[in-house]
Amino acid sequence: MFNTEKYKKICEELLPYKANLIAVTKTKPVTDIEAAIQNGQMLFGENYVQELVEKVPVLPKNIQWHFIGNLQRNKVKQIAPFIHTVQTVDSRKLLNELNKHAASNNRVIKVLLQVHIAKEEAKFGFSEVEVQMLVDEGVFEQYNNISFNGLMGMATNTDDTMQVRSEFKQLYGLYKSLSDAFDRNESPVLSMGMTSDYKIALDEGSNMIRIGSALFGSR
Ligand SMILES: *Cc1c(COP(=O)(O)O)cnc(C)c1O
Repeated sequence: MFNTEKYKKICEELLPYKANLIAVTKTKPVTDIEAAIQNGQMLFGENYVQELVEKVPVLPKNIQWHFIGNLQRNKVKQIAPFIHTVQTVDSRKLLNELNKHAASNNRVIKVLLQVHIAKEEAKFGFSEVEVQMLVDEGVFEQYNNISFNGLMGMATNTDDTMQVRSEFKQLYGLYKSLSDAFDRNESPVLSMGMTSDYKIALDEGSNMIRIGSALFGSR
C-alpha cells in the first residue's frame, strides 16, 4: 500500500537538497504505482526485467523508468525501447549492449555507473579505480546512444552510521572529481540513499534517492 503521508514528508525533506526521488516498486502491484502517480510521482525504479515489462504496458507512457537491479546483457533488448536510465551499469560489456540496443531503437539511454562502495562482498559495481580508467580511456565518447549522467552506489547494510556516512562521502568525492566526464547536456546525477540511509546520503551530497519500503511497506 502506498503511504501518502510518508510520501509528502519525504518530498518535503528533499526540497532543500533539490534532489529527486525514485519510487522503488519491485514486487509491488500496479495499483501501488497508480496511487503514487495520483500524488504526482513520475519517477519509478524497478529491479527485475520480467516484472518491469509486464507493468509498463498498463501504466502511463510518460513515466520515467529507472532500472536499478542487476541487469543481464541478454535482457537489455527487452527494456531498451523505453528505459529512461540504467543506474546499475557495472561492466563494459553491458555498456556495449545498451548502446547497441539504444541505437536500434533510435534513442539514447542514460546510464549511471554503479560504484562498489560497501564493505560487503555481495554488492555489484565497479571499483573507483575501474571507473577512473573508463573515464580516462574516453569510453563514453565511443557511444553515440548512451548518455553518461553520473554515479550510483549502495552503502553497507549496517547500523553503523559512521561507516555509511564515510562510504557516501567517498562516492561523493569520486563524483565531484569526475564532473567533467558527465554529459554536459544533462543534469549530473549522484544516486545514493535508500529507506534506511537516505538522510545521511542527502547530507553527503546525494541528488537522487531511491525509496521503496518507506513508501510502499516492507517486501
Ligand atoms: C530495493 C532497492 C532500493 C529501495 O530499497 P528500500 O530499502 O526499500 O528503500 C533502492 N535501491 C536499490 C538498488 C534497490 O535494489
